[in-house]
This record gives sequence, C-alpha cells and structure tokens, in this order.
Amino acid sequence: MPEWLKRLLRPAYFRINHWRGNPGQEIYTLAIREIIHEYDDVCTFILDRPANLNFQAGQYCHVIAPGAILDNHHVQHISFANAPHEDRIMISMDLASGSRFKRRFQKAAINDTLGLFSIRGEFILDADAQGRPVLFIAGGIGIAPIRSLISHIEAQGTPEWSLVYAGRNHLYKDFWSPFTGRVSLANRQTVFTSIEASLQRCAAPLVYVCGSGEFLRDINTFLVAQGIPVESIHTENFTD
Ligand SMILES: Cc1cc2nc3c(=O)[nH]c(=O)nc-3n(C[C@H](O)[C@H](O)[C@H](O)COP(=O)(O)OP(=O)(O)OC[C@H]3O[C@@H](n4cnc5c(N)ncnc54)[C@H](O)[C@@H]3O)c2cc1C
Repeated sequence: MPEWLKRLLRPAYFRINHWRGNPGQEIYTLAIREIIHEYDDVCTFILDRPANLNFQAGQYCHVIAPGAILDNHHVQHISFANAPHEDRIMISMDLASGSRFKRRFQKAAINDTLGLFSIRGEFILDADAQGRPVLFIAGGIGIAPIRSLISHIEAQGTPEWSLVYAGRNHLYKDFWSPFTGRVSLANRQTVFTSIEASLQRCAAPLVYVCGSGEFLRDINTFLVAQGIPVESIHTENFTD
C-alpha cells in the first residue's frame, strides 16, 4: 500500500481501534488530581492510581494525552516519577515543544483523564548489586525515573545513594530538602566537578544516568575516563 494511502487511512484505523476497545491493550484511565508548575513550562501531574496498576521503580509507560485516543500523535513514553509504594501516580514533562501531545497537557485541568498502558523498562535497581553504593546522575527532565528509584530506596532502607542533578532549574525541590548532603543540584558548568566530588566519596558505585542522548554521551565519556567500568553504568535515554 503506498505511503500516502496509509497516511490517509491511519486516522480511521485508530478511531475504529478505539471503538473496538483497543484489543490487546490494557489501558488504564487516570484522573488528574493536581498540577504542579515546577518552573518555565515544566509541570508535574499527580494522578489517581488504579488499584491493579503495578510497576517497578524506574520504569516507564505509554501515556495517551488527556481527551485523546490512542493514535500516532497523542502517545509518548513517560516515566513514573513516584515509587510503587506511593499512593498517587506522578509524571513530569516539559511542555514547551508545542507538539500535539504536549498541547493537550497545556490545556489539561483537574479531573481530566488520561490513558496509560504498556508498562516496561530496564532502568531498575540491579538485584545483583547488593551492598554497592549508587550514584544517580540526571539531566533535566531525566530526573523523573531517578526520583522514583530514590523514593524506592528510601522506603527500603538500602543501598546508599547520592545524586548529581544537572538542569537550568530543578524539579521536586521539597523532596530533595532532607538530603542536602547527598544531593548536588548542578548546572551545565558544574555537573562534571559535582560528579568528580561524588565519585571521591563513594567507592565502586553503580551509576544510573538519565537524560537526553547528548547528555548521556557526555556523561558516559566522562565516567569511563574517571575509571568507571561500562558494565557499572545504567542509562535511560529520553531522546533516541
Ligand atoms: C523511556 C523513556 C522515558 C521517557 N520519560 C519521559 C518523562 O518522564 N517526561 C518527559 O517529558 N519525557 C519523557 N520521555 C520523552 C518523551 O517520550 C518524548 O519523546 C518527549 O517528551 C518529546 O515529546 P513531544 O511530544 O514534546 O515531541 P515529539 O512529538 O516527539 O516531537 C519531537 C520534537 O518535534 C517538535 N514538534 C513536534 N510537534 C510539534 C508541533 N506541533 N509544533 C512545533 N514543534 C513540534 C518539537 O521540537 C519536539 O520536541 C521519555 C522517553 C523515553 C524513551
């Protein structure tokens, strides 16, 4: 079938699939209960949690924008920012791009609903790494799954962790305030010196890095130059 015909038929295909209840997909419907304007166009959405929604700290899901159906314009991968033990779902995003998906969130109001399906992801705590300290490194919105992982660790009691969080501003400021000794809020200029200082404080850490592809490449190169083995570095790439 030619590409132009596929493009023409696609909206009808998604609409019919929607009417048929999107067979093969378990789609959860979640109501927005709070919208936190973090800074600039960056927002956190606090959502009701369906009783049967299960995930692991650090995982992501597919989100269908408020008021939209499952189609190729209104679904994005979005990480859980809360940990499994927390009773509300929390997602964060920068709405500045103006994509159709993000415009729906710009207009969203309390009690609007969104869809969530297909939970997955390997950016989870390494079960074989008992006893090793963990260094988290986040770039911008890449802090979302790292907040989930840290909240989970805090609930469990181990392992030891520290965080270097680079951004033009920072999300979840209240969440970090009890951890002043462990959290370095950095920017593009200070991120590498902050990582160096953290590495001096913890021996043989596992490192979890999340952010844009460009951020991951820069940080990986730096970590390897600092002697961190590649197999100790876990990454989650938000842009590739
Ligand atoms: C595992 C994983 C987890 C992720 N978790 C998160 C998360 O927790 N939070 C988060 O924010 N992101 C997350 N992302 C990234 C997210 O999935 C999107 O790729 C990202 O938010 C960009 O989506 P978008 O709708 O803004 O842009 P896209 O539609 O993907 O378009 C890409 C770019 O095109 C341009 N563009 C598209 N449409 C328009 C338009 N109509 N007008 C003008 N410009 C346009 C914009 O510059 C935009 O940035 C994650 C990605 C992965 C892979």
